[in-house]
Amino acid sequence: MLTQFACTPDGETNSILKESKAPFGAPEFGNFKIEDYKTAFDKGLEEKRKEIAAIIRNSDEPTFANTIDALETSGKKLTKVSSIFFNLNESENTPQMTEIEEYAVPKLTELSGYIYMNDTLFNRIRTLHDKKESLGLNEEQSIVLDNYYNSFVRGGALLNAEEKATLLDIDTKLGLAQIKFNSNLLADNKAFKLVITDKADLAGLPQNIIEAAASEDGTSWVFTLDKPSCIPFMQYADNRALREKIYKAYYGRGNNNNNNENDNKAVIKEILQLRQQKAKLLGFKSYAHFILDEKMAKTPEAALDLLNSIWEPAVRRAAEERDELQKIADREGAGIKIEGWDWFYYTEKLRKEKYALNDETITPYFKLENVLQGAFDCATKLYDVQFVKREDIPVYHPEVTAYEVLDSNGEHLSIFYTDFFPRDTKRQGAWMTNFVEQRNICGENVRPMVVNVCNFTAPQGDTPALLNIDETRTLFHEFGHALHGMLTQTHYPSVSGTNVKHDFVELFSQINEKWSIHPDVMPTFAKHYRTGEPIPVSLIEKMQQSAHFNSGFETTELVAAALLDMKMHLIEDYSNFNCNEYEDVLRKELGLIDEIEYRYRSTNFSHVFGGGYAVGYYAYLWAEVLDCDAFELFLEKGIFDPETARGFKNLLEMGGSKDPMREYKDFRGANPDPAALLRARGLI
Ligand SMILES: [Zn+2]
Repeated sequence: MLTQFACTPDGETNSILKESKAPFGAPEFGNFKIEDYKTAFDKGLEEKRKEIAAIIRNSDEPTFANTIDALETSGKKLTKVSSIFFNLNESENTPQMTEIEEYAVPKLTELSGYIYMNDTLFNRIRTLHDKKESLGLNEEQSIVLDNYYNSFVRGGALLNAEEKATLLDIDTKLGLAQIKFNSNLLADNKAFKLVITDKADLAGLPQNIIEAAASEDGTSWVFTLDKPSCIPFMQYADNRALREKIYKAYYGRGNNNNNNENDNKAVIKEILQLRQQKAKLLGFKSYAHFILDEKMAKTPEAALDLLNSIWEPAVRRAAEERDELQKIADREGAGIKIEGWDWFYYTEKLRKEKYALNDETITPYFKLENVLQGAFDCATKLYDVQFVKREDIPVYHPEVTAYEVLDSNGEHLSIFYTDFFPRDTKRQGAWMTNFVEQRNICGENVRPMVVNVCNFTAPQGDTPALLNIDETRTLFHEFGHALHGMLTQTHYPSVSGTNVKHDFVELFSQINEKWSIHPDVMPTFAKHYRTGEPIPVSLIEKMQQSAHFNSGFETTELVAAALLDMKMHLIEDYSNFNCNEYEDVLRKELGLIDEIEYRYRSTNFSHVFGGGYAVGYYAYLWAEVLDCDAFELFLEKGIFDPETARGFKNLLEMGGSKDPMREYKDFRGANPDPAALLRARGLI
């Protein structure tokens, strides 16, 4: 049975909450009234609060059914309005939407506090958790119970009243310090402008970059520390002194020698101290231990082992790359020793010399529709699923397309929406989200509805949408996340689809990219949009060779930043901590060459100090080891080998309902091998 949204026919009149008459109960976007969102949130919040209150007030002995099942099935109205609203808020944003967001978010935060600060609710969960072994749970139920228990405990549920007050105080201070970090960084970013008034200083820069930097009257050119402005400057500007200036300003954001008002060094020390206090209060040795405890890696040691095994080969290659750049500079008679601000510049020269690949040669082979079909065909070959375009499923914008996804028996699996082009109302980037999460509990079998939102080059006049190679990979990447969301076969929504551990989730997107660039697959979808000719083998070879270009540098700066993030959060005593000094010490300890900076230095590492991704930078590399290692099995057995694909499909279907490392090893027949990443990046 399929019951989407599973709303009881209760005469609901709110356009957002009303039962849908569309196929599969898909959202009827065209009927939604903007003025109904606030009431929908209010109704949803009220329903959820009532349901939670009923669990809390229940005088029966706690059971899995009356506590965990009840939690997992609670709040359907709120889930419905939230998924619709927060999706459209990103892709169809208007000032009215922002106003609704400001209305709803504090109420959602308050509800979350009501749930996670409730001792009676926690005691029910704790009672179940304490006698877990006797409850006869299957693995998925056991994980769901652990997840609830851990989120309460990590929020301080086991602390006494005084400790709880301390934790609240720490969290409040941390929140404020992170805001301070971000506003300092933003202000420092804005404070710098490289203003050029002498045309000669623009030598080397491409015309489009010069035009983008020009003032209205065309008498001056402004370059900022935003990446699209400063990176091309470092790549192309012949004026070495100016390259040095912008390079130092970029890496020095938030790190002012005179400790001006935008300086982040003191804020960083405060954040690290607060995090350590929090970890200690919750029973962990360090903040890194606290964070890793709920990741696939489990311990900082496991993450460090991985980073260390990549480090040596990466930095060795980077040193070779530096020597090659030095040769170019010498050959040109530049009379310099390569420094950080020369790296981008000479790398660009080398790239031109070795791999003259430009977008105009490549993009005609990557018509968007063909690339998407290529992604569909790979999924069909691997996982036996079909995609059928459905005009009868409502969409929220004329550029959005809806597909039905069917399994090998023709059974409905999912709805898949695509939304590919930039709009003023859409935020930057590319992502996958759910309009509906999969669930199969308490007599309800709900299949997911998934969307891919991107910002690809739009069609222009008679020219269809043509993707460059990065966009092609992005399409396969996001589609990998979408497959994870669509193929899921769990029972509980909190562990369905992409609701998995943070360092596991990118395996599924990153591995999917590998098919797009495989020489046996690319010609099947990369056909010239005018002639239909498949992409020439010589071009594929060139692309493959260039894939390893500069990978010593790229890997080194990435691993250096991940090590900085991890090791800073393992320090026992921060009383004399200064992040600049620490970076220098770590640089020496690691043997990081002078010509390369940490990808982010502490004072501008906003993933780590500006929000929720502290001790999370390693995860990119962790997931990359998994995807390279998993793909090597496909390379060995055949990239569409049915048995290997079946094994991988199990990983896709299980969501967060099983232990990821055990299941991964089961699929692979071995531990993940970090050398797979080195091979894929051409470092060994
Ligand atoms: Zn991703």
